Amino acid sequence: MHRHKKERAAALEAVIAAADLCRAIQSDIAPEAIEKQDRSPVTLADYGAQALICRALSQRFPDDPIIAEEDAAFLRQAENAPLRNALHQRVRACVPDATEAQVLDWIDRGHHDATAARFWSLDPVDGTKGFLRKAQYAISLALIEDGHIRVGALCCPNLVASDGSGAVGCAFIAVQGQGAFEVDLQSRRERPIRVSDDADIRHMRTCESVEAAHSSHGDAQRIKALLGITADPARLDSQAKYAVVARGDAEAYLRLPKNAAYREKIWDHAGGALLVTEAGGRLSDIHGRALRFDQGATLADNLGVIVTNGPHHDALLAAIAQLDIGNFS
Ligand code: AMP
Ligand code: MG
Repeated sequence: MHRHKKERAAALEAVIAAADLCRAIQSDIAPEAIEKQDRSPVTLADYGAQALICRALSQRFPDDPIIAEEDAAFLRQAENAPLRNALHQRVRACVPDATEAQVLDWIDRGHHDATAARFWSLDPVDGTKGFLRKAQYAISLALIEDGHIRVGALCCPNLVASDGSGAVGCAFIAVQGQGAFEVDLQSRRERPIRVSDDADIRHMRTCESVEAAHSSHGDAQRIKALLGITADPARLDSQAKYAVVARGDAEAYLRLPKNAAYREKIWDHAGGALLVTEAGGRLSDIHGRALRFDQGATLADNLGVIVTNGPHHDALLAAIAQLDIGNFS
């Protein structure tokens, strides 16, 4: 018997349905809005995706708490009626009988603090800057039980499928102990994915955040120089980076802290992390510690994140230690 069968199916459908809403909103972004750095489209997508996913989870698993990035407090303010109305219209395109009050309540289902034995972690639009640039972003959902990620689901609406079809957009699903899969958005056909088997560190292809504020590009360069790695990094927003390593398009994802204080949010990692481990890769913080998802909303015990196909992991950690990366004193 495959465990978590219901959760797997629900998580996958939920992220794909939310991605449809995000895609519709993104395609309406006018070039002027990008120029003006108008954030309202991503706000709408964020709230809309969270409403749809919390609704879907609540229907199937009414007792499960959810920790999600957004809440509806801002939307409930009287002066934000225009945004509230726009959101309601967008959600009704997917759930025709949804009332405005329901939409707000669905969003507020995401208020959990990640202390329950079993809960869902949701980032409705991870990579908001990528969303606005019409580049990479992801809808990321995970089920966590007793600190273990049991199910990880990711939808990357702008990531080209790896099946050779050239389709833009794909989803990913993993269940602990059951492997990782890339999913075609139209047919729902699933293909197992594996990390790269390249074990020559000089060939290592890395990926990292576009945003230099989220991960030190300079430290990544120092590590690579030390290890004799010459290829330029791929820069992409969101947990799409986990998918890229999980399916073998890069050997490593480096997330190198910019300061000692920042703690990674669980919803920025939980959905993607299981894909990589189920695809045969490794995952730790920059000191080699396992990422701990039993510490509340953040990875409180961890600094940065290192994701690899495996063979390079210890060499990367050794280089990080040698360069004293993460020591801000
Ligand atoms: P990425 O697209 O990989 O750059 O990651 C986007 C995520 O970075 C957002 O969802 C934020 O939660 C998170 N973030 C914000 N500030 C920081 C920071 N100083 N260091 C690392 N991550 C951050
Ligand atoms: Mg995020």
